[in-house]
Amino acid sequence: MQLLIFTDIDGSLLDFDSYKPGPAVRALEACRRAGVPVILCTSKPSAEVRVLRTILDLDTPYIVENGAAIFFPAGTGVAVAAQQLAESKKWDVSTIEMEDGETFTRLLSGVARAGVVEALGEIAREVGMEVRGISEMTMAEITERTGLPSDQARAATMREFSEPFIVLKGPGDEGRIERTELLELIRPAAERRGLACALGGRFFHLQGRHSKGTAVERAVACYSRAISHSSGSDAVDQKSLLRTMALGDAYNDLEMLAAVDEPVLIRRPDGTHAEGIAFPGLVRTECVGPQGWFEAVMGAFEGEYPSGD
Ligand SMILES: [Mg+2]
Repeated sequence: MQLLIFTDIDGSLLDFDSYKPGPAVRALEACRRAGVPVILCTSKPSAEVRVLRTILDLDTPYIVENGAAIFFPAGTGVAVAAQQLAESKKWDVSTIEMEDGETFTRLLSGVARAGVVEALGEIAREVGMEVRGISEMTMAEITERTGLPSDQARAATMREFSEPFIVLKGPGDEGRIERTELLELIRPAAERRGLACALGGRFFHLQGRHSKGTAVERAVACYSRAISHSSGSDAVDQKSLLRTMALGDAYNDLEMLAAVDEPVLIRRPDGTHAEGIAFPGLVRTECVGPQGWFEAVMGAFEGEYPSGD
């Protein structure tokens, strides 16, 4: 059995405020030794994830902008499988060469950001709320709102497929309105424009009709194909060769958690778990943030893995 781990970044693998991985580094090291891919799955854009991949010393595939695109390091077995699956399923696939020469096979579900930014203005008027998109914010404002170091804050603005935003004033101005309630108001207006809206730890995200969950399903399909090919048999039940786990802390992680065998909801710094996420098999960590990440991942190693083969 091959274990795959999909993980959210902020508030899960990294501390929500300090952006430090803390004890999660030791669990990442255990994954590396055991040959378990840790696949970052985030609302962040590729430029920002690439900074983190270097810091965390990861060379695995990654998923950006809430499922808009999956990047597989070119030439790996799973990248070859992604290319083949994309051709048979008519997925958008291309080869992307980064500035530093690193090459990826990219599966794309996202839509161009310019149209998303334009739609955000229309949706705000329709719902009767005042919003501020990240493209309107200065670097100083982004640094202040996120607490990110300046190089990562700059990378955070290099989006291609989505627009994060905050709501300055809700409809009717009836005092505080819950963020999940706002989401329910925004969603139909987004859907009418062929878009979707997700709720992350800090921002709302307007984007194409994809989610972290749709991307995880595609990535799992690619790994299934790669593994069944390398085991030399197409006849075996491919799903039985994989064990999937996902870790997240916010409402936009719901679809990702629902798409795996072992979903883990990470406790937040205020002691709560994200509201609105509840289904059978969901594990809620005792510990907060990266400490909870460590707890869940090391727990997975104590189970059947890696004895099953
Ligand atoms: Mg998070």
